[in-house]
Amino acid sequence: MMLGFTLLGGHTLIQKGNFIVLERDEFRDWLKKQSITRVIDSLQVHHTWEPSYDNFKGSNHFQMLEGMRTSHLKRGFDDIAQQLTTFPDGKIGYSIKRPFNKAPAGIKGDNANGLCIENIGNFNSGGDTLSAEQKKTIIHLYACLAEKLKLSVNAKHITYHCWWTADGTYIGDYDIKRSAKTCPGDKWWGDGHSLAAAKKNFLPQIQAELNRLKGILSLRPLILLLCQ
Ligand SMILES: [Zn+2]
Repeated sequence: MMLGFTLLGGHTLIQKGNFIVLERDEFRDWLKKQSITRVIDSLQVHHTWEPSYDNFKGSNHFQMLEGMRTSHLKRGFDDIAQQLTTFPDGKIGYSIKRPFNKAPAGIKGDNANGLCIENIGNFNSGGDTLSAEQKKTIIHLYACLAEKLKLSVNAKHITYHCWWTADGTYIGDYDIKRSAKTCPGDKWWGDGHSLAAAKKNFLPQIQAELNRLKGILSLRPLILLLCQ
C-alpha cells in the first residue's frame, strides 16, 4: 500500500512498507517536525558498498531499502542498521523501524549517541563516482541534522566509519592497520577517507550549507543596506 502525505509547500513524501522516501528540498521542514528525544552527538558517514550504483534503476528506492533491511536482519541486526539513506538521484530514505530515537547499528562504539547515515554507492577505488545530485543531498542532509541537533560541524560530530577500529575504539583518522573498514571509501568525496581529506572539502561544504540555511550569508547585504 502506498500512502502520500502532503506537506506545506505542496511537496509529497511517500511512505511504503518500512520506509519513507523524501525529496531533498522537503527534508529540512520534515526534520524540523520530528521529535528527537535521544541524545545524538555523532553523525556517521558510511557508504553501502553493496548495493552500489549498479543496483539503482531510478525508481527502485523502496526495493533497495527493503533489500538492505532483509540483509541486515539476516546478519542478526534487530532491524536495518541505518536511520537515513541517500540515493544517487538525491532522494533520501528514512527507516521507520530504525527511527531517530532508536540507536543505530552503524559503528561499534559510536551507536549509543550516534546517527547512522548510509550513502548508496561503492566509493572505493574502481567503484562509483558520487553523482552531483547525491553530493548536494549529502551536504544538505548533514547541515540540516547539525542545525536540528545543534551540533558544530567538525570531525568530532561528523565521523567516518573508518576512523574507528572493529572493536569500537575511536582512532580519529584512517589507519590501514587499525581501521575497521575503508568505509565511506578511499575515494569518498573525491578526496579520500582521512581526517585531512574530510577537512579539505567535505566539512567546509557542510558548514557553508549550514551558514546558508541560517541565513548568515544573507545578513551581509542587509547590514550594508542598513548602514547606507
Ligand atoms: Zn560503514
